[in-house]
Amino acid sequence: MISIRGLKKRFDDLEVLKGMDVEVRKGEVIVLIGPSGSGKTTFLRCINALEIPNEGSVSIGEKSMDFSKKVTTADILYLRRRTGMVFQTYNLFPHMTALENVMEGPVIVKGKKKAEVKEKAILLLEKVGLGDKLDYYPYQLSGGQQQRVGIARALAIEPEVMLFDEPTSALDPELVGEVLKVMKDLAEEGMTMVVVTHEMRFAKEAADKVIFMDGGHIVEAGTPQEVFGNPKHDRTRQFLNLIQ
Ligand code: ADP
Repeated sequence: MISIRGLKKRFDDLEVLKGMDVEVRKGEVIVLIGPSGSGKTTFLRCINALEIPNEGSVSIGEKSMDFSKKVTTADILYLRRRTGMVFQTYNLFPHMTALENVMEGPVIVKGKKKAEVKEKAILLLEKVGLGDKLDYYPYQLSGGQQQRVGIARALAIEPEVMLFDEPTSALDPELVGEVLKVMKDLAEEGMTMVVVTHEMRFAKEAADKVIFMDGGHIVEAGTPQEVFGNPKHDRTRQFLNLIQ
């Protein structure tokens, strides 16, 4: 469903991604782990063109974007319409209610009419357990509730893949579970997901494939059993020892 080949990204002289090759099949949950600064967030941001890679290609559906050529606004929109991004710090619009936040994507990104998207937005907020908070503003919601609005908002554009960038790392520990539960439910429903997280339990329980990144490239990848149970590389072992 998604094929990423030879993806490279530089910030000035700093090469942050040094040639990433990742295939994501439909319905697969991929968890990216690795030390801080290894390029995980940048990789996710490249998939939905929040960062424009310098080289390599991203194919989603029928279209392939070659980043060594000039990228057009149409290319960027193509990626944005097919990928739903969930951010570490929620990034909700503070002056909009939960419902308005969820309706915004389909109206702006997909050009739909408000009346058309309202019913679907309500269903999505019910799905993440916030059917009774439709008219609440972000400041009236806990971090966990805000992040669940963030997930509903990303789902609203009906993406082919959901991208999660450390979705629980800004949360108080007691609020992490409610967000992971929504993510697990989505995974079980067959949503295709790429998740950057430090929640190793989630990786073990929900991932089809775990990718360990370090220094801008993939050190190893495999099933959770392979990567956690029998890591092949010293670097992976060291990282897992530090965090577990
Ligand atoms: P991770 O998510 O694994 O912690 P990041 O992708 O956030 O890693 O960052 C990888 C490296 O890229 C870091 O050294 C970071 O400082 C750098 N970096 C990320 N975004 C930018 C940016 N917009 N400008 C310059 N450097 C950046």
